Amino acid sequence: MTGNAAANDALLLRLRCFKSDYFPLHQQRFQDLVAEGQHPKTLFIGCSDSRLVPYLLTGTGPGELFIVRNVGAFIPPYGGSHGLHGTTAAIEYAVLSLNVERIVVCGHSQCGGIRAAYEGVPDEAVALKAWLKLVQEALLPVQPSPEALRRTEQRSVVLQLERLMGYPMVRRAVEAETLTLHGWHYVIEEGEIHIFDAQHGDFVPASLASNCGTGPYQPYVEHDGQVICD
Ligand SMILES: [Zn+2]
Repeated sequence: MTGNAAANDALLLRLRCFKSDYFPLHQQRFQDLVAEGQHPKTLFIGCSDSRLVPYLLTGTGPGELFIVRNVGAFIPPYGGSHGLHGTTAAIEYAVLSLNVERIVVCGHSQCGGIRAAYEGVPDEAVALKAWLKLVQEALLPVQPSPEALRRTEQRSVVLQLERLMGYPMVRRAVEAETLTLHGWHYVIEEGEIHIFDAQHGDFVPASLASNCGTGPYQPYVEHDGQVICD
């Protein structure tokens, strides 16, 4: 590509900026991570939504988060399906090989995946249609009002945490207290992460929460007494 053509390729220019501006400032960190390997303590499972930026939210950088993202931040059941599940593979690798100390499941406001679970997707999107079944149990028998969508986003986070506990290596590590689970709901428009508190069965804003974890594993009970997961 000629210089002039490159000037019109904004993404190419950003790649060059990374090398010329960012990398020199952090070169040692990258080289240490190569020499010593990665030892992230956190597996971050988040929605693919472009507005969810895990490094910004958590103030982390290279080497700190092992990240898997998908539509909705859903977790397939362990061993329950025989497709090619990148999310399942990432969970197994993070827990068994990287020995992560925490797993964050992070949903968010205005989630298109949750909305699509109510409204449907084009017939051609066969994988997406099947994928959205992973949130079916969290859907409410109502029209998807903003309030219902918000509650569903949060119910989904809890449902995915429940599924995580169906992974034998996750359950084992949680019970051995070497691994903690964290259910988060990020409200984009407020800049607030709401953290699932298993003891109270509710989401608490990070600005008011005593810790960023989900606490002892318990069934999720909503305020109206409905238990959505066994
Ligand atoms: Zn989303």
